[in-house]
Amino acid sequence: MKEFVLAFYGLKPGIHTYNFEIGKTFFSAFENSLIEDADFHVTLSLDKQPTMLTLSFSGKGEIRDFCDRCGDPLTMKSEVSDEIIVKFGDEDYEQTDEILVLSRDTHDVDIAPMIYEMIVLHLPFKRVHKNRSACNAEVLAKLSEKESRNEQNETDPRWEALKKLK
Ligand SMILES: [Zn+2]
Repeated sequence: MKEFVLAFYGLKPGIHTYNFEIGKTFFSAFENSLIEDADFHVTLSLDKQPTMLTLSFSGKGEIRDFCDRCGDPLTMKSEVSDEIIVKFGDEDYEQTDEILVLSRDTHDVDIAPMIYEMIVLHLPFKRVHKNRSACNAEVLAKLSEKESRNEQNETDPRWEALKKLK
């Protein structure tokens, strides 16, 4: 994704602001993406200093998925932010989640993975309607009916195997 490759080499020192609108196409570019359908507005403020870059991201948007409880469509609002420091040099710095070390002759950096990770890391642990009452009541009723029926019919497979031997 070309538009996410920032050519910082020719930039003047100081702060530069970028805006990105990302959607389905963005997320589908990542293999096994944890998000399929979402829209985000992401702002990046890049502070160029002589020896490093500070990338401050903030994003706001919504993720569309399906509820794990009732299976109905689910829209989750999300607000995210992250800061990444880019340093230059080969052995001088240790690379961490917050610090990216690039070799001195690097002229650009792909920020798409940074945006993707920022959004994915903020995903809620459970993708369900916040209130049970917002769930599809009909589906929930059917599910609980099915569950109680399964409990009644459940037999130990080992017991079944033994019976066949008789
Ligand atoms: Zn639900």
